[in-house]
Amino acid sequence: MTRNMTIAGQIEALIQRLDGLAVCDDCITDRLDLSVRSQANAVTRELVGTRGYRRAKQPCSLCGANKLATSHHA
Ligand SMILES: [Zn+2]
Repeated sequence: MTRNMTIAGQIEALIQRLDGLAVCDDCITDRLDLSVRSQANAVTRELVGTRGYRRAKQPCSLCGANKLATSHHA
């Protein structure tokens, strides 16, 4: 991962690395050290329905909470 990658790019890379496992916006915020959770939320909402991204209420693979989480399916 390069330093100059956009936040959207970092979020996509994180979700893709999880290879089909879901991750919630809070864990994305934590992992990428984003300043505000709404950044993750704005990006994941945009991703849904494009190129294999899915968002649903389901257990997050990182924190285990059952909430809106995003996954990528190749
Ligand atoms: Zn989580």
